[in-house]
Amino acid sequence: MSDSLFTKIRKGEIPGNIVYQDDLCFAIEDIAPQAPIHILIIPIKEIEKVSDASEEDINLLGHLLHVSKKIAQDHNLDNNYRLIINNGARAGQTVFHIHIHLLGGKSLEWHPA
Ligand code: AMP
Repeated sequence: MSDSLFTKIRKGEIPGNIVYQDDLCFAIEDIAPQAPIHILIIPIKEIEKVSDASEEDINLLGHLLHVSKKIAQDHNLDNNYRLIINNGARAGQTVFHIHIHLLGGKSLEWHPA
């Protein structure tokens, strides 16, 4: 199976702005930001979407949330930010490698569907 777009960015094969990295995950700036801060938190493990995750991924999924919190703090988001996961094409997912959108830096409207 070929690497996902996000894995190619992590490996430096295509350009991207990596803002965080650890043993389990990494984070990049979104190429089409929807808010002043728009960062994607992505597991190194290539799981296509949350509905494909299994019990062995429980700690990894929790880690992604924890890292999202740390990145929000690092960007001085002042405890006001939004985390979004699109699951499946009909839910708006376009890159099939799990990622949490971290959005902040302005007052956010709510148009969930
Ligand atoms: P989703 O629609 O939830 O799958 O989110 C995919 C996100 O990846 C979108 O917000 C895109 O703007 C973003 N994206 C697509 N290509 C790139 C890229 N080359 N570098 C950074 N972000 C990207």
